[in-house]
Amino acid sequence: MERFEKKVWLATPTMHGEELEYVKEAYETNWMSTVGKNINEVERIAAEKAEMKYAVGLSCCTAALHLAVKHAGETLYGKPAISHGALEGKRVFCSDMTFDATLNPVVYEGGIPVFIDTEAASWNMDPVVLEKAFEMYPEVKLVVSAELYGFPGRMDEIKRICERHGALLIEDAAEAMGATIEGRQCGSFGDYGAISYNGNKIITGSAGGCLLTNDLETANKARKWSTQARENAPWYQHEEVGYNYRMSNVIAGVVRGQYPYLEAHIAQKKAIYERYREGFKGLPVEMNPITEGTEPNYWLSAMILAPEAMCKQVRDDSRALYIPEKGKTCPTEILETLAAYNAEGRPIWKPMHMQPMYRMHEFITREGSGRCRTNAYIAGGCTDVGADIFERGLCLPSDNKMTPEEQDKVIAIIRSCFE
Ligand SMILES: *Cc1c(COP(=O)(O)O)cnc(C)c1O
Repeated sequence: MERFEKKVWLATPTMHGEELEYVKEAYETNWMSTVGKNINEVERIAAEKAEMKYAVGLSCCTAALHLAVKHAGETLYGKPAISHGALEGKRVFCSDMTFDATLNPVVYEGGIPVFIDTEAASWNMDPVVLEKAFEMYPEVKLVVSAELYGFPGRMDEIKRICERHGALLIEDAAEAMGATIEGRQCGSFGDYGAISYNGNKIITGSAGGCLLTNDLETANKARKWSTQARENAPWYQHEEVGYNYRMSNVIAGVVRGQYPYLEAHIAQKKAIYERYREGFKGLPVEMNPITEGTEPNYWLSAMILAPEAMCKQVRDDSRALYIPEKGKTCPTEILETLAAYNAEGRPIWKPMHMQPMYRMHEFITREGSGRCRTNAYIAGGCTDVGADIFERGLCLPSDNKMTPEEQDKVIAIIRSCFE
């Protein structure tokens, strides 16, 4: 097989032309700042699509998560002193196997992330572990949970658990826009929802994000904080700390032009997922799981190797090594082989409890508190679902401009690793 002449990417923006019209409109009417029709329209469409009352257009999803965390902190614990975070010293239950942007804002506000292990059946936060975590720490009042790769788990169950324990839920739906659980849109389960228009998401503005809420006061507060927290006065009057987090009307033009294509992008991603599933028939692998009652947006196709198909693989904090073995392979070999053919894959998000930054943070599993000894989760006797999926799983090229022929070749390349 020959190398791909044109690189096959994990996920890249797909533009359609209308985006440019809205950007041009912003330019020609000189609304080249953080106010204008494009922002208003994005907020209207985002709220409508997500089935939430309000959407606040922001510079990125991380900003949305930050404002949600800050608002939740002030709601739960009151307004902090000016140079303190809203969650100072408070534990917050967080998704473990996710992009670190999910929980960075908890740390911005002085909170202490406690990581909740992943459910093997859904690859999302495990509701059983969350329940256990509340038994261990009944004082915890905030949960930040993300959907992984656009394949939701039981966010509805997570919300019910939060309600039982009087905790607020922030739903990081950055990867899951357009996905549903029991017919309900992801982003609408939390007390706060966050969506992303980052360059590799299902639709994009090159950047941008929205905070979703059903509470007008929360939306107003987020809007105020996102524009440096000006008070209503003839001059720049300030009673609290603000941020420069508002969405640009130019970016909003791109997002506005993308929204009509959300469903089309989901259909393309679904076709990619199904083509992989067909193509891998007979191999000792499984695709990322589809939880009953959910409809994914299929953002990133991923797969996991059966334990018995794994050759030896070790990873330290920056490198990976494996020992090739006939009839077996591992994510490192597959990723290196894909790269050699000019195709882009990616490891699964490295779980937060395995990150050097969070080495001292608590990690809760179905067995309780604590980490497994190295590789003990493979040998048995200790469950660490996140570490196991990270070890055996990988994300596949999922670009919606990949042709069926290109994808067939990706499949053939991967199959060759098992020979
Ligand atoms: C992409 C992503 C974010 C961050 O989105 P930005 O818009 O880039 O800030 C947050 N959480 C998850 C799970 C993501 O995948």
